[in-house]
Formats: sequence, structure tokens, C-alpha cells
Amino acid sequence: MMIFLQKGRGSRNRQGHPWVYRTEIATVEGNPQPGDIVEVYDWRGKFLGRGYYNPASMITVRLLTSSREEPIDADFFRERVRQAWSLREKLLAGEPESDSCRVIFGEADFLPGFIADKFGDVLVVQSLTLGIDRWQEIIVDELIRLVKPRAVYARNDQEVRQLEGLPLYSRFLFGEANSPVVIRENGFPFLVDFVEGQKTGHFLDQRHNRAALRPFASGARVLDCFCHTGGFSVHAARYGAKEVTAVDISPHALTVARENARLNGVEERLHLVEANAFDFLREQDKKGEKYDLVILDPPAFTKSRSTVAAAARGYKEINLRAMRILKRGGYLVTCSCSYHMTEPEFLAVVEDAARDAKRRLQLIELRRQPQDHPVLIGYPESHYLKCFIFRVL
Ligand code: SAH
Repeated sequence: MMIFLQKGRGSRNRQGHPWVYRTEIATVEGNPQPGDIVEVYDWRGKFLGRGYYNPASMITVRLLTSSREEPIDADFFRERVRQAWSLREKLLAGEPESDSCRVIFGEADFLPGFIADKFGDVLVVQSLTLGIDRWQEIIVDELIRLVKPRAVYARNDQEVRQLEGLPLYSRFLFGEANSPVVIRENGFPFLVDFVEGQKTGHFLDQRHNRAALRPFASGARVLDCFCHTGGFSVHAARYGAKEVTAVDISPHALTVARENARLNGVEERLHLVEANAFDFLREQDKKGEKYDLVILDPPAFTKSRSTVAAAARGYKEINLRAMRILKRGGYLVTCSCSYHMTEPEFLAVVEDAARDAKRRLQLIELRRQPQDHPVLIGYPESHYLKCFIFRVL
């Protein structure tokens, strides 16, 4: 079964990008069925790679290999899992203060559409595409062999699965464990509700950025916007913050945040507020409240290139407000997890906010995602997280 691209297409794939869009395809030969493995050629008939096919998806082929010979069978997927785990084994050994990390990061680990997070001795997996869903059992079997978890839980309830023509469900694929489970992150205990929480239950990609609060937290009055289960807030409190206000719109996230505060013995210094962070920031500004440290970690404001301008206005608004409520010499930790808002674009938005707020910025640190979320060169979508630390003067 073969797919031929339109004239001029395919150079991205030659540089290692695994996606073939529906709009790039000229002809499909051999009547492939959804989930089948197809060969992809450019318009001149040059081989580009093989991958799985789903005509229901805008990303119609996700390439698995650029080799013509390598068979795509159970061993192929087992080997990919072994490769992924061999990196995480090293990373975990070098990070004894944490027992959790991302084990499989989809495309960036050459397993497009598959995610696996290790939370202590529980693995939480997601298969997000039809093509990879067929191999879930093999992938999970290899994970069990290598990682030796107590339980594997599938969070296959994400709406993207519906677009792929897959059923939505959540259940244990292996063993059992109570949710929430307690993990250790940077030496601190955290609850992860992998059954009811957002995505897989905990945002592991921010754990090193949370640890980066350490020098700025001692004695500080802190505001953590979009706090989710309190990751940044609890770190700030444990690093000696005088008082932390944590804001989120989700009651469930705040319930877990409250328990995390208690688990860490910081509940007296951590105030949780259920609110829209945009409104809360505006009110704090109007009231003239002042903080030493503000953290902004919003959800992705844009999931496509076409809405970047609107997203930029959202990022500018919260960053502007944050600067206004920071004392002179206070610190701003500001994040964006929208891939479409690139690092230079995001930096420009923050600079723009500083001009309007009439504040000067010293860039203290330019941070990204941790090593267990590797960036695959040739696949820029894999660099999605930006985290800047500024002193705001
Ligand atoms: N900082 C968190 C992760 C943030 S994820 C951590 O370290 O774990 C984004 C969070 O923003 C989610 O918890 C979501 O509930 C919340 N959220 C989304 N829109 C919001 C809004 N308008 N105001 C406040 N919180 C919002």
C-alpha cells in the first residue's frame, strides 16, 4: 500500500518530521484500511518512510521509520520502548529526589501518539491515535517488563481519540492501585489523581521549573496563577515563602492542591482561591496588592497557528497584570505550553507587556521542559514548553 505526495511536498519528512497531512497527499494506492502500515513516496517516487494510516485524521500518516527494510511488528515497538526506557533509567538515577517521569513522549520517542507517565510505581498511559492503539498491548507489555510497575492505568478518555474513530475509556490494563497515588518530586510528596485529574493527573513537565523557584521563594509573598494541584505553590511554601496564594478555576484541582498542602505541612501559609485567573489578577491590580513572586502557568491558549494573535493578547494581559502587582525587584516566572507560540514570540509578548507596564526586565533564566520530554530535531512540535524567570524592576 503506497501513498504519493503532491509535487513539492516531503522535504519536511526527509528532515525527520513524522507527519503527513491529508492536504499533502496526491494519491493513495492499494486501498489501505485505517491503522494499516503504508509506504510514503514523494511525487518523484522517492521513498520517504513507512507509517500508520488513518484517513479520518488531518494527520493522515504518522511515519514510524525511514527504513524500507525494517519490519513493523511487535519487536519493532518493543525495541522503541526499550530505547525510551534506557534514557529514563539514566535520568531517574541522576534525579534521586524524584520517583516520577515521562517514560514515552510520543513522536519524540518514535512512538507517535503514545504517552506513558511513571508516577511512583504506577504507570499511566494514553494512546491517542488509531494507528498506535493497535499496538497498545505490545507497548504496555514491554513497559511492564522493563519498568515493573504495580499497575498500569489507561487514560484513553481524551477527545482526540473520538476524532480518530476510537472509543473513550479509562481502566486498569494491569494490576490495581488506589488513586490518588503519592509520588516524590524534588524530595516533596505530591498526590496524583490519575483517575479523575487532568490529562494523566500531574504535569511532570514542570517539575524542574518548580525546583527553580528555590532562590526566589524564601520570605516571599507569592501568587501562583493556574496552580492546578499546587505544584509551584507547594514548592514555594516548602522553600520558605511567607504566604502563597494559589488560583485555579477547577474545584477538583484545588481539592487535590489542598491535600498536597496538608501533606507537605504548609496548609497554613497556602491560600487557595477558586477563580478565573484573568479576573483575579485584575482585582489584585485594582486593590493595589503587591507580591514578591508571581507564577503564571496557564493552559495552552492556542492549539493552532491561526489563533496565535488572540492567544498573544491573553498572554500579554496576564503578564502585564503580573508585572503591575509585582514589587520593584520582584520575580516573575512565566510559562507557555502552546507549541504554536514559539519561544521568540512568547518573549516578544512579555517584552511588550513590560513596555506597557513601564517596567524593566532582567532575564534570569530561560527554561524549557525537562530531559524526559526530549526535543526531537526535525520535529519542532516537541519543543512546546517555555518558562522564563525575570526580575521585574
Ligand atoms: N501550574 C500547574 C499546571 C497548570 S495547568 C502545575 O504546576 O501543576 C493549567 C491550569 O489552569 C489547570 O489546572 C486549569 O484548571 C487552570 N485554568 C484554566 N483556565 C483557567 C482560568 N481562566 N483561570 C484559572 N485557572 C484556569
